[in-house]
Amino acid sequence: LVARMQEFGETIFAEMSALAVRTGAINLGQGFPDEEGPKAVLDAAVEAIRTGANQYPPGPGLPQLREAVSAQRLARYGLSYDPATEVFVTVGATEGIAASVLALAGPGDEVIVFEPYYDSYAAVIALAGAVRRPVTLRPVEGRFTFDPDELRAAVGPRTRAILVNSPHNPAGTVFTRAELEAIAGVCREHDLVAITDEVYEYLTFDDAEHIPIATLDGMRERTVSVSSAGKSFSVTGWKTGWVTAPAPHVRAVQTVKQFLTYAVSAPYQRAAAYALANEIPWVEELRKSLQAKRDRLITGLEAAGFSTYRPQGTYFVQADIRPLGFTDGMALARALPEKAGVVAIPTQVFYDHAEAGAHFVRFAFCKKDEVIDEAVERLARLR
Ligand code: PMP
Ligand code: GLN
Repeated sequence: LVARMQEFGETIFAEMSALAVRTGAINLGQGFPDEEGPKAVLDAAVEAIRTGANQYPPGPGLPQLREAVSAQRLARYGLSYDPATEVFVTVGATEGIAASVLALAGPGDEVIVFEPYYDSYAAVIALAGAVRRPVTLRPVEGRFTFDPDELRAAVGPRTRAILVNSPHNPAGTVFTRAELEAIAGVCREHDLVAITDEVYEYLTFDDAEHIPIATLDGMRERTVSVSSAGKSFSVTGWKTGWVTAPAPHVRAVQTVKQFLTYAVSAPYQRAAAYALANEIPWVEELRKSLQAKRDRLITGLEAAGFSTYRPQGTYFVQADIRPLGFTDGMALARALPEKAGVVAIPTQVFYDHAEAGAHFVRFAFCKKDEVIDEAVERLARLR
């Protein structure tokens, strides 16, 4: 293995999901729903295979999906992107983010990330030969946020981009307009690109509102936005995502993407186009149901002795393990199947400053109510 990848072993999701399978524990680790997405969307994928969507689609994606993405950005956010030149399709958001980083940051360049960060960010920054500059999200009055001075201090002469994930996995924060303005201000002042990860764009709770940073003044021209079908339509296994950006950025990112995978699975593109055009009301119901599941899990975790942060979005709750007498989230996560028959993700692996996250574990609530209930009943044994 090349030197720059040596700090990356097996991903925590693979390790913890394998642990769940091996021990038969309830898997509240890796975030995937245990209920199916809209039936008409699943049927659309089957129908696509039956009706010949089985050869290479165009590299940038099927026109119908690019048009559906363009229409979605316009209807939901008032953002206008030309489907022919400013939208393209990727193998999940993961490839969209990877291609964006590889296209925009080279050896020695720096990319700012908010830690805890989704694990693929660190790995693709390393693949690019670039350097990550973490800005730590810390709890302030029950919500994870950053210090704008720390963000400004993270910028140097080699900074090229800021990776902005909102709603944020695993912190659960949905950045406010003020927080986004602070990020946008830094981007404008230092001529940086914002690469966004908006995979949880629909999954926000209470009165939290997802605001794409591209809608802020002067940001459309310097933002590469990434999202995908997986979370919105409960089809995480489909790995169908998209990038929207100004044409020159799209050309740059597309240049990389075409040599990673060339094109994206055709039947899922047809089905994702159908989903974006027809199933937003279904997503609204999913959102409501997830909000109730969030509260259900939090009530149970608190009763079991954890102290929790109520997320404003995503599938995940950050739980502080110290009230139960534990201090090392990694050690607890590895022991948890045996201690309590549950799997969780130790969030310290998403930090460079491991001490800032050592005492957190992440629990997923995108699960049936009875699964959540059984898990929290088991976790109550930890006391
Ligand atoms: N970004 C974040 C923050 C995620 O939680 C995930 C996992 N679903 C992804 C990206 C990956 O998305 P996809 O499956 O579309 O590649
Ligand atoms: N995004 C999901 C999570 O954070 C799944 C990640 C993965 O399997 N790579 O749990």
